[in-house]
Amino acid sequence: MGAFKQAYLEDGGLKDYLEERIQSGDLNSMQIGIAKLVIDKGPDALSEKQRYHYDNFIIVEEDTADCYRCQCSFPSSEIYENDGMCSWCAHRSERD
Ligand SMILES: [Zn+2]
Repeated sequence: MGAFKQAYLEDGGLKDYLEERIQSGDLNSMQIGIAKLVIDKGPDALSEKQRYHYDNFIIVEEDTADCYRCQCSFPSSEIYENDGMCSWCAHRSERD
């Protein structure tokens, strides 16, 4: 778990976030069940398989950042390498 995600989970916004994800229509019925389980009992209650879905399909948006040049979303792990830009803009700015 990255530092960003850890901070996110600790600030108390997790439950609201999961409720938003349930409402979003992006999750299938199994993933909705997993999200509800986490709201009820916390992420520690998940089995290994449930945890996989949770980490990869339910908790997703906090791992992206918006590029300040083109406003696209990209993985937040790249923000440190590219100075707040997506890799495409980083390449462009090198050329400018
Ligand atoms: Zn960009």
